[in-house]
Amino acid sequence: MTIYNFSAGPGMLPPSVLRDVQEEFLSFQGTGMSIVETSHRSARFSDVVTSFKTRLSRLMDIPTNYDILLLQGGATLQFSMIPMNLTRHGRFGYIDTGVWSKKAIADARRFGEVEVLATSVERAMWAPFDSVTSESLDYLHVTLNNTIEGTRYRDLPDVNVPLVADVSSNILAERIDVSRFGLLYAGAQKNIGPSGLTVVIKRQDLAQATDLPSYLDYANHLDLLNTPSTFSIYVAERVLRWMEEEGGVAAMQEKNERSSDIVYDYLDRSDRFRALVNGASRSLTNIPFTTGDVQEDKVFEQFAETNGVVEIGGHRSVGGLRASLYNAMPEAGARRLVDVMRAYEEGKHVSHPDV
Ligand SMILES: *Cc1c(COP(=O)(O)O)cnc(C)c1O
Repeated sequence: MTIYNFSAGPGMLPPSVLRDVQEEFLSFQGTGMSIVETSHRSARFSDVVTSFKTRLSRLMDIPTNYDILLLQGGATLQFSMIPMNLTRHGRFGYIDTGVWSKKAIADARRFGEVEVLATSVERAMWAPFDSVTSESLDYLHVTLNNTIEGTRYRDLPDVNVPLVADVSSNILAERIDVSRFGLLYAGAQKNIGPSGLTVVIKRQDLAQATDLPSYLDYANHLDLLNTPSTFSIYVAERVLRWMEEEGGVAAMQEKNERSSDIVYDYLDRSDRFRALVNGASRSLTNIPFTTGDVQEDKVFEQFAETNGVVEIGGHRSVGGLRASLYNAMPEAGARRLVDVMRAYEEGKHVSHPDV
């Protein structure tokens, strides 16, 4: 039985990439050494880094006046590095759309004055704000896709300060116009590769603080400052290669739209399950849903697991159920999820008919 992993992160990776990595694990490019034994300063590893950056630039159409930084510490460390590095007046704007935004706000408060310009009251009734005109803000931070709540921006606000976005759960899953942002960041483990790598895409002219501790200063990461997570970068380069072969971000987005439509359509027609978000702000990659009953959600989670649909529990902070459909999830996975929900709804508490 094929197992479909709907984890919100670390998420599913393309099986073909994992097989290639396995095959090459003992002897990287015929060297007789594993990638995890290879110097990050070696020419071989430098080629991997260059290839990663070149492919990411191509896939996301990143303009030449942006730098790609490969960091550690997850998206979470960016919650601090952003205000530390981009401070000028010490005033930062944030839009609070959920759990991850709140964490970003809490860390930013340690480095200056935070103005929360808009807050989503209910995740099911989430309305993005219209515009920002305040020029005294050093930047405006948005969480483009809310992994836990299952919401996303469809239209971006008009702003005249640098826009900073957490794209941890939608990078490379849908088109993002990089040129509209001052800085984008993402932990790799949702749509790029294994955990341990954080990607920061930063416009070169963005304000830059000085006198920061060496690791925390963006300016020190144009080349590798210290030993990065070499294994994560290596696997991530393979994932980008796979993505290009599959047709790039446009192909990923089309596939993700088909897959999420399959799931949302079923949830909208079901008498047993319902989506927690309605309308245009529904996320493409994270679909929270429920039976409406905490206990029954748990029963269904178990039922799904015995039918090859795994990791569909909601985030520990909110409970319920959640299906994450990242790039490596094939459309067949979305169909399996719906088949399993239908079998459950029809009272067939038995194994999935196809398995
Ligand atoms: C997962 C996630 C984070 C946290 O990422 P880490 O790499 O674990 O620090 C932050 N923001 C969003 C939107 C996420 O989905």
